Amino acid sequence: MNAYCQEEFFSRAELIRLQEVRLRTTMARAARSPFYAEQFARAGVDLASIQGPQDIVRLPFTTKDDLRSAYPSRMLTRPVSDMVRLHASSGTTGSATVIYYTRNDIDSWADLMARCMHMVGVRAEDTFQNMSGYGLFTGGLGIHYGAERLGCLTIPAGAGNSKRQLKLLEDFQVSVIHIIPPYALHLGTVKDELGYTPDRLKLRVALIGAEPHTAAIRQRIEDVYGIKAYNSYGLSEMNGPGVAFECLEQNGMHIWEDAYLPEIVDPETGRPLPDGEIGELVITTLCREGMPLIRYRTKDLTRFLPGDCPCGRKHRRLDRIMGRADDMIIIKGVNIYPMQVEQVLMSIPEVGQNYLIVLEREGYLDQMRVKVEVKEEFFVEDMRELKNLQSRISSRLRDEILITARIDLVEQNSLPNSEGKAQRVLDLRK
Ligand code: AMP
Ligand code: ZN
Repeated sequence: MNAYCQEEFFSRAELIRLQEVRLRTTMARAARSPFYAEQFARAGVDLASIQGPQDIVRLPFTTKDDLRSAYPSRMLTRPVSDMVRLHASSGTTGSATVIYYTRNDIDSWADLMARCMHMVGVRAEDTFQNMSGYGLFTGGLGIHYGAERLGCLTIPAGAGNSKRQLKLLEDFQVSVIHIIPPYALHLGTVKDELGYTPDRLKLRVALIGAEPHTAAIRQRIEDVYGIKAYNSYGLSEMNGPGVAFECLEQNGMHIWEDAYLPEIVDPETGRPLPDGEIGELVITTLCREGMPLIRYRTKDLTRFLPGDCPCGRKHRRLDRIMGRADDMIIIKGVNIYPMQVEQVLMSIPEVGQNYLIVLEREGYLDQMRVKVEVKEEFFVEDMRELKNLQSRISSRLRDEILITARIDLVEQNSLPNSEGKAQRVLDLRK
């Protein structure tokens, strides 16, 4: 067995022993943060009673709202001066969430990511091109550090600019890429248009993830480039990428249980579900120093795949993420809550009551269109004024959600008005 580290092939018993030790350390650390000190006190948690994974159900959940309420630093176990990096979710208003990392956190994250890549055959001799956005999004630096840790020549290409991406791929004989699925398909089209025949590229492996995609999409990506593509799962709250990753079997993603303690719970009741049943993934960090998270509700829907993986690793496998237990939209790798859009719209006086976010796929790329009702008194015949309103809305939205949306202005009461919960999002991408 070709292991990146010994934990990779630990037996179940070894994993559980390690989890026990790390969970106790994590609890003690967490209790030093103002947020958890308060939460444990309120819930009457006796630290000494939490000895291992079996006791975890007695602990309260941590939610995205908790992260928001602890903004910017109430979940830290140590002073900010001990932190060396932060990443934040998209959004410029109160809805942002921040994750801090100590030097050790960055280090163990890089190791986890390197382990994932090593598992699918990436080695120091490979040249790696990261086509995901850098910046606050963890898919940039997170995977970058993993590739460097492995010793790959690493190209921080960032997102977009297909011509340049292809030139880099050819000039440096790139063998491994990280790319989000819709962009992989789009780039595939540009590749063919520009006449990049298979002999000009040396691609072998793609890491794909950051948003839900089907097995069919993966197959298409593999066909378009003549490569193997592996599903990569992570979320900023759990460092970023490197949480769970497919092995060469391409049948489920091993979640690294020496670093993460996973549970699948009923999204309604919060009660643990038996293996094989679909529910919400809940994760407790086991290695994080600066900002441990206890029983974090990811909102991602998946299940544990029953049975052992032929690869020999005993870290359990997660099925493809089937969707989300909330209304978060992921478009172009950016997370958006309909409420963020609403906040912007409702701050513009001309905007009426109703709006509808329409997600469309053009070719392989996702587009966002927002249909906005305009109050009667403002819905004038003057095209110039309407155009002006349109671009004002568009730029305000871009500031908030970092995505350029097309804005359709419509008359008051022309959008469907439902009796119950309003439908805010129409996803035509499926
Ligand atoms: P972020 O924190 O911005 O990196 O976004 C994390 C979210 O992206 C996760 O909670 C998932 O909803 C989604 N995501 C990440 N990787 C995958 C994947 N491989 N398949 C499906 N969804 C994913
Ligand atoms: Zn496996």
